[in-house]
Amino acid sequence: LSRLQSPLSSLNYLYRSIQNNMTDAEKMIDLLDEKADVNDLPEAKDLIITDGVIEFRNVSFSYDGEVQALKNVSFTVGKGQSMALVGRSGSGKSTVLRLLYRFYDVGEGQIFIDGQDIAHVTQLSLRQAIGIVPQDNVLWNDSLGANIAYGKPGCTDDEIIDAAIAAQIHDKIMSMPDEYASVVGERGVRLSGGEKQRVSLARMFVKAPKILVLDEATSALDTETERGIQEALKKLSKNRTSLSIAHRLSTIVHSDVIVVMDEGTIVEMGSYRELLRKKGAFESMWQKQVYEQYTSKVELIPEEVI
Ligand code: ADP
Ligand code: MG
Repeated sequence: LSRLQSPLSSLNYLYRSIQNNMTDAEKMIDLLDEKADVNDLPEAKDLIITDGVIEFRNVSFSYDGEVQALKNVSFTVGKGQSMALVGRSGSGKSTVLRLLYRFYDVGEGQIFIDGQDIAHVTQLSLRQAIGIVPQDNVLWNDSLGANIAYGKPGCTDDEIIDAAIAAQIHDKIMSMPDEYASVVGERGVRLSGGEKQRVSLARMFVKAPKILVLDEATSALDTETERGIQEALKKLSKNRTSLSIAHRLSTIVHSDVIVVMDEGTIVEMGSYRELLRKKGAFESMWQKQVYEQYTSKVELIPEEVI
């Protein structure tokens, strides 16, 4: 099939194939549905965010006290860097993001943001610093405008609209009878998965947090929309730290660090180039995915990257 297509369209096809694979593998628990069971320490101080450096230091965690969802996970994401988490379903990727947002406290180890242990700062200040786009989006039973403004209480209409444009949902909203006043939910407007994702992304754009956390944030979007949003995300993530669970090759390629997880541990870590050269877990993972889609091996990586 790929041989009949131009290089560009075969690459598009590849993105979609990988996306579909990963999406199926990733139908996991929604980040925001996770019940927070953490409390501020009496002496908790506000997080002071300077560079947005994130460090996981020997972090272990179990949801049920039996199975270890994370085992001794350590990594650092430097100032302005982007990190992508990959690995099969259940390997612990979403758990990493949930712990960073402190939906749960770590079992062992520590998580630092700019040198401050997140267990010792106020949850409010932590959550002001971090913007999350979860895999399955949660929209409130409120107007679309309010759903976006939620990212930055008190923001202006212009800020909301700019964010909606960046997330490519503005036109859709304007096509509704009540535009930004349209109420989401059972009795209001029904949105597709991709549309909800874009509202959630608009929330992230309006918030413009120091730390961006994306759990398959563009998984329900078509390739073209996704590409546009990736451009906007790239702009936003300039000088900001980002952690994303990647579902598409295009997002992984440009990450500063790729972390490959398996059964709650990090099995490989490095840049896209480094990991491919290593011909380890990451390389075989990609080859396997490609192999499943094609009978012959095709050029997996855009020329520019190699
Ligand atoms: P991934 O995002 O890589 O698919 P997760 O981080 O969601 O993986 O899950 C890691 C492990 O923790 C899996 O074994 C999963 O079944 C388990 N797990 C995830 N969420 C919960 C939860 N809320 N309660 C109990 N176990 C969970
Ligand atoms: Mg997950």
